Amino acid sequence: MGDVQQASGGGQASSGHGEFSVLVIEDNPGDRRLAELALTAGAEGTGAFCEVLLAGTLEEGLQLLATAERNAMHAILLDLGLPDAAGFDGLQRLKSLYPDIPVIILTGQNEEAVAISALKFGAADYLEKDEIRPRSLWRSIGYALERKKLEAELVYLAATDPLTMVKNRRALLEALPLIMENALRSELHCAVLIIDIDNFKQINDLLGHSTGDELLLTVASRISDAIRQTDVVGRLGGDEFAVIATNLKSPEGAIEIAEKITQAIAAVPEINGRPIEISSSVGIALFPSGVENSDELLTHADLAMYKAKKEGRASICLYDESLHHELRRRLLLKRAMVSDMATPGFYLDYQPIVDCKTHEIVSAEGLARWRTRDGKIVMPAEFIPIAEENGWIADLGMRMIEQACEFMSRSLSTGVPVVPISINVSPIQCKDKGFPGEFTRAIERRGLSPTLFNIEITESTFMQDIDGARRGLEALMHVGIGIHIDDFGTGYSSLSLLRDLPLKHLKLDRSFVSRLAEDLGTRPIMEAIIDLARKLEFKTVAEGVETAEQVKLLTEIGIDYLQGYYFSRPISAAKLCEELVMGGVVRNGYGLGLEAGHDMDNADKISRALGR
Ligand code: C2E
Ligand code: CA
Ligand code: CA
Repeated sequence: MGDVQQASGGGQASSGHGEFSVLVIEDNPGDRRLAELALTAGAEGTGAFCEVLLAGTLEEGLQLLATAERNAMHAILLDLGLPDAAGFDGLQRLKSLYPDIPVIILTGQNEEAVAISALKFGAADYLEKDEIRPRSLWRSIGYALERKKLEAELVYLAATDPLTMVKNRRALLEALPLIMENALRSELHCAVLIIDIDNFKQINDLLGHSTGDELLLTVASRISDAIRQTDVVGRLGGDEFAVIATNLKSPEGAIEIAEKITQAIAAVPEINGRPIEISSSVGIALFPSGVENSDELLTHADLAMYKAKKEGRASICLYDESLHHELRRRLLLKRAMVSDMATPGFYLDYQPIVDCKTHEIVSAEGLARWRTRDGKIVMPAEFIPIAEENGWIADLGMRMIEQACEFMSRSLSTGVPVVPISINVSPIQCKDKGFPGEFTRAIERRGLSPTLFNIEITESTFMQDIDGARRGLEALMHVGIGIHIDDFGTGYSSLSLLRDLPLKHLKLDRSFVSRLAEDLGTRPIMEAIIDLARKLEFKTVAEGVETAEQVKLLTEIGIDYLQGYYFSRPISAAKLCEELVMGGVVRNGYGLGLEAGHDMDNADKISRALGR
């Protein structure tokens, strides 16, 4: 290599801590030697060790760089007047090949203007050759390295989520196309996993934002620990994280990673010293899978995540074609809903609630149904979320209330026995300021007593705005409408909430009842809730009662009212009238209907009650 020599103070290759490698490209042997001495002396002065590589031409310099370890060179000193690179040519070539290595220009006397142009071409600094002193040279290199570090930090920050320090949305979106390309080239799979914490909003609202932040941080680090080094994790925003899983030999690998992640998240035992139970839902989209680009892959992962959410807590869902069909069905339902909303297509069935001791019907819950134009019945689990998402729920809810009032009014005017009706009210509808007034007017317009109506609301109604919700509920209670808590025990209930709100009934969630017979832990919990309810003077209702054994157990633990298929499925208004006319005692399950031999008088009353 002719003029090229290696001059290293200690004679060993250097790349460790406190050790630097600097390349000097300078054709004048005297200047080169000067730079070398200044570098080694300057380094020694600060207790560092500097390996100096010397090149007489740009070509030699490039050769040395090519053989050096990747990232091994810390800085380059470059003469602008090289035989094989005039002016800024050398600088430009170096910067295009090694953009990360700081280049310090060596200039002749009075070349300040040239030097300043060099800075514009990407040089880190310039030094006059005559002024090369160990300290000034070393300081210049120090600054250059510091700037490089800062730049790297800025790049890192621009790609990092400030709360959790995992990649941010932008960085993830940028990384995905490259990873997809790699997967194609290596004939392996990759996958996008979108991870969403279940009920995060409730946790946040109830425990406060700093606890929410703490939880996000913990989740981010749990996910990072659960995945491999080659996978990429980032936060898409809110409580949504994404992992790009790379180098998968088979699609199953993606599911295994998803399982590991959900387990890792579920293992979070406490946040800020408070025990916490969390779960997550994961949607997975695989590649290659026929998608055209990274956007489509992300959309698929997103759809799969929504599907997982719908399946309930802690679900993992893989995107497939059927999801597309489901999406289409939802869209068609939404369109049909717009045109059916104001028609009698939407109506209420009623499910009796019975006294635990006598099995007498004490009230009935109105459950919305939709008979579409082609005669199919759509259940509320499908259309209520559509109505909520599209802002139609207050309208739909009021229509159901009007129907219930109408039914009550007709029954009373024709002498059919009545029981109070419970109406399900969506949290969104309940927060509507106009709701208590509208409800009350619907009752008063028909001259009915408000005590004939209850509303069923879930705990999530109070989550964001307890005071607002309380005002609305108090207005309803004030006129005499009963407030019942539905699905009690599934949300994040707080005891003070129970004490402060104008409540009448707690309806224990179906999951308690279904576990009661098998799970030993459930009974004491139910007993404690019932005990508490009694002290606070609430009545308790068990829903989803399906078997004689459940009836027996629930009676033993002292629940007040029962509801479920064992007594009756939701039935039409006509059937409910018939039952009440027959005495309203439900003896056995699955068979509510007219008993043989009922008198015509009743049938007549019933049909008049129904307005026929
Ligand atoms: P929910 O208020 O918890 O109603 C109980 C659900 O459980 C009903 O489903 C009912 O048919 C079902 N069910 C009753 N007994 C049993 C049983 O023994 N076993 C089993 N497996 N299920 C039983 P449905 O009618 O499909 O309603 C689903 C949900 O839709 C309701 O849950 C309620 O949250 C909502 N919903 C229904 N009608 C309305 C409405 O008019 N407005 C609003 N906002 N929501 C409604
Ligand atoms: Ca209900
Ligand atoms: Ca319920």
